Amino acid sequence: MEKIVSFCKRKGFIFQSSSIYGGIGGFYDYGPLGSQMKKNIKDNWWNFMVNTRANVVGLDSAIIVNPKVWEASGHLENFTDPLTECRKCHKRFRADHLIEGCGLELSQIKCPECNGDLMDVRNFNLMLKTFIGPVEDSSSIAYLRPETAQAIFINFKNVLDTQRLKIPFGIAQIGKAFRNEITPGNFVFRTREFEQMEMEFFIKPGEQEKWFKYWLDERIRWYTDILGIKKENLRIKETPKEDLAHYAIACADIEYNFPSMGWSEIEGVASRGDYDLSQHEKYSGEDLKYFDEAKGEKYIPYVIEPSCGVDRTMLALICDAYEELEKGRSGDSNATEIVLKLNSNISPIKIAVLPLVKNKEEITSKAKQVFNLLSPCFVSEYDETGTIGKRYRRQDEIGTPFCVTIDFDTLNDNAVTVRNRDTMGQERILIKDLMEYFNKNV
Ligand SMILES: [Zn+2]
Repeated sequence: MEKIVSFCKRKGFIFQSSSIYGGIGGFYDYGPLGSQMKKNIKDNWWNFMVNTRANVVGLDSAIIVNPKVWEASGHLENFTDPLTECRKCHKRFRADHLIEGCGLELSQIKCPECNGDLMDVRNFNLMLKTFIGPVEDSSSIAYLRPETAQAIFINFKNVLDTQRLKIPFGIAQIGKAFRNEITPGNFVFRTREFEQMEMEFFIKPGEQEKWFKYWLDERIRWYTDILGIKKENLRIKETPKEDLAHYAIACADIEYNFPSMGWSEIEGVASRGDYDLSQHEKYSGEDLKYFDEAKGEKYIPYVIEPSCGVDRTMLALICDAYEELEKGRSGDSNATEIVLKLNSNISPIKIAVLPLVKNKEEITSKAKQVFNLLSPCFVSEYDETGTIGKRYRRQDEIGTPFCVTIDFDTLNDNAVTVRNRDTMGQERILIKDLMEYFNKNV
C-alpha cells in the first residue's frame, strides 16, 4: 500500500490535501490524472446504472438539507461510533476497532500508542456540523450530508409527480458526503470527505428477495465486466441476520482484497424495506405512498440500495491494475518498469500522441494535427520530450492504452505507428483510419 500511495502522489493521481501547510487529516486532493480517472469511474457508473436503464433516473441534490431530514432518518440519534481516548497521550480511537479480533474486553486493552489507560467509551456523532446564516446558535445548526441516499427519499414524491415512472424504478445520485471519522486512514479508504454513488430502487413489498439478488449480481458485473477488476480480488460478504440494523431485511458488502488491509468493503447492497419513506412520511406529514392505478393498490414501496464509494473504487482499481516488472520488459534497461493495466474506459489518458523527434517542424506539426483530430473524442496527451522509449514507459505507468507515433515515414505515407500498452505490439495505421480504429478499440 505504501508503494501505491507514493505512486499516486508521484504521478499526479492523488495528493494529501493542503500539503504545503502540513496537510489536514482525512482529506485528499485528486490531481490531473486522478480527477480524470475519477470522472471516468463516475461516468461509467452513471451509464451502467442510469443511461442504459429505462426505469432509472438521476438526481443532483443539495449537500445541506433541512436538519429534520437527519432527525427522521435516525442519523442525529444513531449515526455514532464508539469513541475512547487515552488518558496519557490523549490519542482517540474507535473502541470497536481496538476490540476487533483480539478477544479482549475494552477494559483489558491499553493505548496502542503509549500503553496508557483508556477512558470509558462514549458515542460520538459522525455528522459534520455547520451554521446557516450569521448567527451561530442551536437554531442555525445544519449538517453536511453523511450520505447521498436521504436526499433521494425526500425527493421521491417530486420525482414520482414529474416523471412517468412505474414501480419498479430507481433514483440514482453521485455526490460528496462527509463523516467526521475518529480515525481516518488507509489512504483514501477512510476519509472525512468522500464521494458516493448511490441508487434507491423502489419495489413492491414482497419482491425484495428477487431484487436484492438482481442488484448484487449487477453490481458485481459492473466491477468485473465494466471496470475490469479481477474476479479473484472481489467477494461478497453477507451480513448475518443478528448483525442487521433493525429496519434492514438483508445486507451484503462487496469487498476488495486490498494490499496490506486485506478484504475491505467497497460497496454495500441493502434491502431496507419501507423504513426510510415511512420515517419521512411520519416526520414531514406528506403522503409518500405509491398508487398502482392498474391494480388499485396504494403502498409505501420497499427499497433496494446499492451504495458505492468512488474513492474506494478508485483505490481498488489502481491496486488491481498496478504491475511491477522487475527486469523491465522493453529490453533497453534493467530498471523496474511499472504498467498500470487499466481498462481503456477508466484510463485517464486514452491516447498519447508522440512525434518521434521534436526538432523537425514537419513531424511536430503533423503530430499536432493528429492530436487535434483525436482529442475532441478521446482524452489525448501530446508529448515530445525525451526518447521514444522513455515516453512509452511514462504512458505505460499512467495506464494509457495506446500511443501514436509520428515518424519520418508518416510524411510520405500518411500513416502512424499505434502501440498497444499491454501487448507492446505495433501496427501501422493510416491517419484517415485512426478515428475508426480507436472507436473500435477504446
Ligand atoms: Zn496513549
